[in-house]
Amino acid sequence: MCEKALAGKNALVTGGSRGIGRAICLRLSEMGAHVAINFSSNKEAAEAVKKEIEANGGSATLLPFDVSNKEDVKGAISGFIKDVGPIEVLVNNAGITRDGLLLRMKEEDWDKVLSINLKGAFNCIQACAMNMMKCKWGRIINIGSVVGTIGNIGQANYAASKAGLEGLTRTVAKEMASRGITVNLVAPGFIETDMTAGLPDEIKERLLGEIPLGRMGSPKEVAEAVAFLASPAASYITGHTLHVNGGLICQ
Ligand code: NAP
Repeated sequence: MCEKALAGKNALVTGGSRGIGRAICLRLSEMGAHVAINFSSNKEAAEAVKKEIEANGGSATLLPFDVSNKEDVKGAISGFIKDVGPIEVLVNNAGITRDGLLLRMKEEDWDKVLSINLKGAFNCIQACAMNMMKCKWGRIINIGSVVGTIGNIGQANYAASKAGLEGLTRTVAKEMASRGITVNLVAPGFIETDMTAGLPDEIKERLLGEIPLGRMGSPKEVAEAVAFLASPAASYITGHTLHVNGGLICQ
């Protein structure tokens, strides 16, 4: 993979302040992109990512907004495009969980997860698409989950949001192919981040027993898959789901 393949391009990573998003910001910066680091509330963490990028010789902009708020998304992205330039690489990574068994799941927990994980990606794609189409080149990479494919007890809202992202990915891939834009989904398995840090030990042990590679993945291993899909090496891949899950499911 050409190391500075994204030189001169801008990349927006939603939820770039922590975990997988942070690793994606650092990796896209290594590829030469100017990175817009989105976050919702954790400014300190986002600033630390920006400092790390700058210490490595890259450049970044902090772009706070709530991905579920259409007006905020539109305002922040159009402001960035006006001040800095078009967003050629969009990584829809921001995501949350609000777990509970279906029969007891609160409507607000269903709505919150769907509005951030699924509608958030829709909002960001709509806000970036017109400019990406003008550039006749773009990469949209959505972050799904293995759970969107196999389901998981207690995660009806989360699994539905991630399965929805797969359908969104395949459809937008078809709609935008003629404009030189590829749209793919990276579906991580169980990755060591804040999101999984709170899992009880017995659940972690059971999960590890089901992963053929016998360990959780790292954010960097997910970032490498995103880097590949953002690179020229992946120019003929669109509408694809790339699983990064240690063999948990093989497709
Ligand atoms: P994480 O460590 O909990 O970080 C979540 C990130 O999303 C943070 O940067 C957070 O910003 C941001 N965020 C949350 N709500 C937001 C909103 N409304 N608007 C903008 N940003 C928002 O999560 P992670 O484990 O890195 O997960 C990243 C993605 O990978 C998610 O889509 C998740 O579903 C997916 N995934 C994770 C795993 C896993 O095992 N960890 C597995 C499969 C898929 P703040 O810092 O401001 O809160």
